[in-house]
Amino acid sequence: MSYPIVIYARKVLNGLLLDRAVAAGCRVERSRVTSVDTAGARVRLTANGEQRESDFVVLAAGARNQLLPETTALGALDLEVTLGYFVPTEEDIIKVKFLKEFEGYLWSFPRADHLSVGICAKLGQNPTQQLRAYLDEFVRDEKICMEGAKFFSHVLPSPEAATLRGRRIVGKNWAMAGDAAACVDPVTGEGLYYALRSGDLLAQALMDGQPQTYPGRIRAAFSADLEFAANIARRIFRGTFLGGAITTRMVQLLNHSPAFRDLIRDIFSGAQDYRSLKKRLWDQLGLTFVQISRSMLHPRGILSASRQPRREPQS
Ligand SMILES: Cc1cc2nc3c(=O)[nH]c(=O)nc-3n(C[C@H](O)[C@H](O)[C@H](O)COP(=O)(O)OP(=O)(O)OC[C@H]3O[C@@H](n4cnc5c(N)ncnc54)[C@H](O)[C@@H]3O)c2cc1C
Repeated sequence: MSYPIVIYARKVLNGLLLDRAVAAGCRVERSRVTSVDTAGARVRLTANGEQRESDFVVLAAGARNQLLPETTALGALDLEVTLGYFVPTEEDIIKVKFLKEFEGYLWSFPRADHLSVGICAKLGQNPTQQLRAYLDEFVRDEKICMEGAKFFSHVLPSPEAATLRGRRIVGKNWAMAGDAAACVDPVTGEGLYYALRSGDLLAQALMDGQPQTYPGRIRAAFSADLEFAANIARRIFRGTFLGGAITTRMVQLLNHSPAFRDLIRDIFSGAQDYRSLKKRLWDQLGLTFVQISRSMLHPRGILSASRQPRREPQS
């Protein structure tokens, strides 16, 4: 990786965020909200059987909730299912595997004291038993020792372009952020950055006394890029290039071209957005082909050429 990626246990990351909120003056209350009524001048919500009132409510309760009647819940086309195992073993490489004719991927991500192994795919496209069979085959192929493994499953947004463009995420006294607002990369399923950024942009809109500007701010910051990603997601997973699957061609290009490898590194670390990706691909097309030809003729030369000095990470 040209920029290091950081792996946090979710409990630690969430704890850090809550600590910051408390330090900034928030009062944290741990209770489940069962209803929200935004019809009146003030918002009324029920938590732990008690009624509360507030000026404004921000819903950041994940992909699956129907607490706000003024907007539509995310449907099967906008959702993705993930299932996997937390395995108490140590590894030091990230693995990602694509399957033929399958919109999604398998992964094995090392964490501090365990491995997260899983699969994600559009909800409703593949029966859960099928996903589980793919996952179990992956675990066997990778020879992962499953002793003490804990199963997990979760539903995430995988928004269609029209949803990102048209779904209501703000009203006169309410707004949604993070997964609730479908702020997730439809290709990779990553949503942590967008959850934090959407919260940040919403806070700025509220401080300016202009909550209605929130969707425009999100669009300018990242949702137009996510829309672009939603339009190309299917092609990335199922499309073909030069007679082979795009994902296969990508892996082959990675092996033969340092320029292409740099590009993929930047995508993984979030330094390359989707909208300028096409231009960069075109701009470096010539170089990529030169490197591929050279690599085929002198495979050792290209390996040493790829060992470039590391760039400093962005702050
Ligand atoms: C297995 C897996 C791996 C992932 N890996 C990555 C990754 O590597 N990188 C990345 O960027 N993203 C990743 N994601 C996506 C990322 O986790 C989400 O996009 C992100 O957590 C969204 O944050 P959020 O705060 O909007 O929602 P969530 O993290 O889902 O938090 C919602 C919170 O609301 C609470 N809640 C729900 N309903 C109520 C209620 N009625 N009352 C009170 N509280 C309620 C929930 O308990 C939860 O604490 C992964 C997701 C999964 C499932």
